[in-house]
Amino acid sequence: MATLGGMRDSEWSKILGWPGYRVYQSEINESAQTLHLWVRRKRGNHKLVCSGCGKRVHEIVETYEREVRDLPWSQYRATVVIELYRVRCPDCGIKVEKVEQLPSKAPFSKRFEEAVGRACESAAVRRVARQFGMAASTVRAIDLRYLKRWSAGRRKPALRQMGVDEIHLGKKQKFLTVVSNLETGEPWWFGRERKKETLDEFFTQQLSAFQRSAIRAACVDMWEPFRQSLGQWAPKCRIVYDKFHIMQHAGRAVDEVRRAEFFRKGGAAREVVKGKRWLLLARWVHLHTDKKRQLNQLFALNRRIMKAYLLKESLGRLWSYTYEGAMLRYLKSWIDQLRWQRLKPMEKLARTLLDHLEGILNYCRIKVPLGVVEAVNGNIKALLRRGRGYSDLDYLLLKAQRLAATKTQFLVLQKAA
Ligand SMILES: [Zn+2]
Repeated sequence: MATLGGMRDSEWSKILGWPGYRVYQSEINESAQTLHLWVRRKRGNHKLVCSGCGKRVHEIVETYEREVRDLPWSQYRATVVIELYRVRCPDCGIKVEKVEQLPSKAPFSKRFEEAVGRACESAAVRRVARQFGMAASTVRAIDLRYLKRWSAGRRKPALRQMGVDEIHLGKKQKFLTVVSNLETGEPWWFGRERKKETLDEFFTQQLSAFQRSAIRAACVDMWEPFRQSLGQWAPKCRIVYDKFHIMQHAGRAVDEVRRAEFFRKGGAAREVVKGKRWLLLARWVHLHTDKKRQLNQLFALNRRIMKAYLLKESLGRLWSYTYEGAMLRYLKSWIDQLRWQRLKPMEKLARTLLDHLEGILNYCRIKVPLGVVEAVNGNIKALLRRGRGYSDLDYLLLKAQRLAATKTQFLVLQKAA
């Protein structure tokens, strides 16, 4: 143990930079590379605040010390031992005082938690844990507090255009319903499953009657429970069945055709059909030459899969029309092409589209940003892939909100596929 005699407490205080506090004792352990600083209020800093109610208090009951980890000083891990007051509040009784640098009961300073939280924005929890020499669970808890403070300190933009999407979490947890703000590209709320009750819960518990009436448009999947909930809680909002969701249905229809052919055919043809699911879901323009060749090989062997694929591709062009009459004509001619093809999954899709015609044509009547639902969906999936431990949905939501808020530009620039 050594005390650095050369540096005065006032200089330590300056480098520490905690407003209203001064260092009155310091200790450096060179072999362990640790630095301990003892701090207390500066003379004249008498403003005490109750941590219970946030009001000014005057009566001090006792002093005590708390130890928190602070930002490192060069190679040294810094610990600050802070002198605190227990106060008597007229409203709350005996409480600890509220201190800006100590936002929680955890043994970390606010700015240390912020450094950990910021690190978690660009790296997986396990990596941040290694970087700071802490347990992953500790890092996760810090990150959650950091995000909660960020969320509490900002004003959420009004919800005028909402997106409703569902994410399949797996066999056990099933579906997650995601409500997002299409104007900011930010997820707003997560709900379990995808029932009418799920969305009902959002409307009744997250929004006031005034907020519900402010919703102008909703981009949703052609999913009856959602339509019912929207009709009940936001009757004035226009439902838009968007390209992203409709093309998902088209992709599933192509896959049904593929599977039927897979079971119908035997031998060599079966091998070609096998494992082409992702290729068939992709859009032709997004495929590399060798992938295109693989698909052509498949089409040469199986005309039915080729027809289904071409139908999916041509349906995607529906959204190149901005006049409702033209869009309707294109859709009708698309449906006409299905005649005599005997592609059951495609016929089923056509019926679904006709049942939801108004919502599809709403694309021409109300302008909603394209590709946002898809981008939000992609971001959440990326988060789920990157880190485990999102059994806590609040954490996942805050994480996705922060991601959207810090990468707004990326979302705005992203165009619909
Ligand atoms: Zn109080």
